[in-house]
Amino acid sequence: MVGPSGWEPEEAQLGDTTCPECGAVYASRTILRRHLLTHAGEKRFACFYCDYRTERKDTLKQHCLKRHEMTVAEFKRRAEEAFRDVKGVFDGFTG
Ligand SMILES: [Zn+2]
Ligand SMILES: [Zn+2]
Repeated sequence: MVGPSGWEPEEAQLGDTTCPECGAVYASRTILRRHLLTHAGEKRFACFYCDYRTERKDTLKQHCLKRHEMTVAEFKRRAEEAFRDVKGVFDGFTG
């Protein structure tokens, strides 16, 4: 069965306006881009070397250690400088 306008919504540019973070589908890329900013706001921990962002410090640590071959001490030093304003960032850094 064909829709009233003669196009299949499921076929229309699938993935093009789909949020890679949460899978929400938007009518246009402009709206999607605005939506993506909300995710960026959640993800306070940005990688020092690339565009990678995450909401979890330990996830960023794993990323940096694997992807950029940082040491834990090196990560800790960089994170202390970069995220000193982020509440709770030093939880788990002791020891
Ligand atoms: Zn999303
Ligand atoms: Zn990175």
